[in-house]
Amino acid sequence: MHDLTAKDLADLIKRMAGRVLAEREMLNRLDAATGDGDHGSSISGALALAVQKIGALAEPSPQDIWLTTAKALLNGMGGASGAIFGTFFLKGAAKLKDVERISQADMAALLAAGLAGVQARGRAQVGDKTMVDALAPAVAAFAAAADFPSAWRAAADAAATGAESTRDMLARQGRAKYLGERAIGHADPGATTIALMFAAAAEPSP
Ligand code: ADP
Ligand code: MG
Repeated sequence: MHDLTAKDLADLIKRMAGRVLAEREMLNRLDAATGDGDHGSSISGALALAVQKIGALAEPSPQDIWLTTAKALLNGMGGASGAIFGTFFLKGAAKLKDVERISQADMAALLAAGLAGVQARGRAQVGDKTMVDALAPAVAAFAAAADFPSAWRAAADAAATGAESTRDMLARQGRAKYLGERAIGHADPGATTIALMFAAAAEPSP
């Protein structure tokens, strides 16, 4: 696959938003088990806002796409997780200054910067039962893959395995940490969202 353009990134965000919206009720149910039940509604609403804002931009650059998504998540979601998901795109956007075409190595660096930002902001490590349990292995798998389509596929598989692994964890961050043992048996909603976003990224673009 060729390097990604701004249009490819806009399509990517659109596919992610569509996939998360389709699973909104499932994500709300996961959050009802371990948190306050709003995760599906808030993340799908914020991603829909991102798609709408991107659609209103005239000739956006790759950085504009990532920054607009960051702002929609930071402003349109609220709560602790809006800051966490928004920071992922905000830190990635900083890597896109004056970049027109994005290679696999560029995208790997952008994802790694996003992950580092998420961890600096939220202090979650792998094993704490958060979105980091899906994001960290996805970012590593993406960087290790040989080419673009296989990188998205490998990242999607790693994110799905990571999200599934949260099912048996005690939570050490977010609202779920107040549940103690009762969080065991339920996958983390944020990790499940990350898995859906990477699954959408791995789909061929229309
Ligand atoms: P809220 O907890 O504010 O209601 P959401 O329900 O939208 O927010 O999102 C909850 C998700 O946020 C969790 O499932 C978890 O994946 C993620 N999360 C919460 N705290 C942290 C943190 N400190 N670091 C990383 N992710 C976190
Ligand atoms: Mg919640």
